[in-house]
Parts: sequence; C-alpha cells; structure tokens
Amino acid sequence: MVDSLANTEINSQRIAAVESCFGASGQPLALPGRVLLGEGVLTKECRKKAKPRIFFLFNDILVYGSVVLPKRKYRSQHVIPLEEVTLEPLPETPRAKNRWMIKTARKSFVVSAASATERQEWISHIEECVRRQLRATGRPPSTEHAAPWIPDKATDICMRCTQTRFSALTRRHHCRKCGFVVCAECSRERFLLPRLSPKPLRVCSLCYRELAACKRREEEEEEEEEEEPGVGSPGQPSYLSGAGTGASSGDEEDSDEDKEGSGDSNWSSRVEFYASGVSWSAFHS
Ligand SMILES: [Zn+2]
Ligand SMILES: [Zn+2]
Repeated sequence: MVDSLANTEINSQRIAAVESCFGASGQPLALPGRVLLGEGVLTKECRKKAKPRIFFLFNDILVYGSVVLPKRKYRSQHVIPLEEVTLEPLPETPRAKNRWMIKTARKSFVVSAASATERQEWISHIEECVRRQLRATGRPPSTEHAAPWIPDKATDICMRCTQTRFSALTRRHHCRKCGFVVCAECSRERFLLPRLSPKPLRVCSLCYRELAACKRREEEEEEEEEEEPGVGSPGQPSYLSGAGTGASSGDEEDSDEDKEGSGDSNWSSRVEFYASGVSWSAFHS
C-alpha cells in the first residue's frame, strides 16, 4: 500500500490538505516517499479529561492535533516518529473501551477509538508502519518509554503519601518519572531526566530515592573501575541508564494538553484508511 501510494497525485493532495489545515501552526509534512495512509478521530486521554484529536498516520510519522473546524482548521500539531513508537493494548473496562497506549521515550498517552474494529485497524496499521520503518532504518525497537500521566480525576488523594487530599487550594502535581498524581510535599525533589529535558524535573519522593540510589551505584562502579584499571566490564554510562525513562512532559508546570483548548464539539469521528480494501493482515505473516 505504501509503495502503490508513494509519488501519486492523490497522496500529494491529501498531504497538502493536512498541511493547509494546520497552516502556519504546523510543520511541512510533504517529503519524497512519504505516504499518508489514514486519518481519523481518536479520543486522547489528557490530564484533565479525554478529548477528541485528529490523527494522521503516515508511513514514517504519526501526527495529531486538535480540531478547530473539521476538515478546515487544525492546531497544536504533534509529530511522532514511528520508529520510536510502541503500542500497548489496554484491557476493556465497563467505562473505558477500545483503548490502547501509544508509548515513546519522551511521551506516552492513552487513546481510544469509536469501535473495536477501528481500534484494531489503527493498531494493525500503526504496527505495520513501525515494523517497516525499523526494517528500513535498521534500528532496534525502542524499549524505554515515558510513563503516561495518570489523569487528575483518577485520584482525590496523593498517590504517594495517600494522606493529602486535593482541593482548589491543594494542587495536584505529576511525577515526571512514574506519572503518578502527587502532592507538593511528596514531590519536592527535582532530578535530571536528560531524555525529557535539559533541566531537572519534578519527581516524587519514591522515584527520587530510586533515581538517586541508581546514580550513586553508577558513581561507585565508576570509582572502582578507576581504582582497578582493566578489571571488569565497562560500566554503562549514566545517560544510558534508568534516569532517562522519565515521564511525559518537559515543561515544568504540567502538560501542554491543557492549553490546547477547545475543539471538543461534537463532530463526526469517521476513520478513513486509504489502505482499506487491501488486507493488511496479508503483510503480517
Ligand atoms: Zn503526598
Ligand atoms: Zn514518581
């Protein structure tokens, strides 16, 4: 499907239409060989609540944004390279259906589709693209993922001390490492999570203890190596280890999602896969 659409007029037109909907707020999307494979609305679980977002699946990137006017104007564009993506299906619950998690090192989040069929379509198309992308670049699948942020509404009390009750005056905070909702008291510490930000980020008391202990162990190993040159294997550089697996956002004060504003009005959530009609499962075996 990718190959038959590449360099076709219809593909160029579809990509140009997406670019024009994002306008100056988005980045150029047309690239030689890039194919737009499908688009549709998914519900994205954001910090405050679940919001509809328009998603575009290209052969090498996943793009999403909020909708100002359907098929006319989008904003808050996010571009995720597919080679960094791992999907995780989530179990069905009476209140939450057709969900799965999109995980990357910098950010992980939960989305849901309007039906089980759409969910299956999205997952199999995305996974096929990821596989192709990894084959093409020779990269191994990514294994380190940011923890998704637990939504604010999921808890009224701090998930660390389980004592502090949140209110208008007692604010919720998110640990950038584990994604838990915690109180200010339980998230006094900052830790450098280089994968997420050049600045130290808010972490909860438990993650801080673990991160600090991990860093101490690494430093001790380095010292031992210096004392006994040539003994043992080279230690893992600290930037490759646990410290990098932090949570979702590099911003100090919480997620960009909240600022994305409206686009919540009711509008059609049809999904369109340009690959439809071709059995994608044929590629799987
Ligand atoms: Zn607390
Ligand atoms: Zn934590």
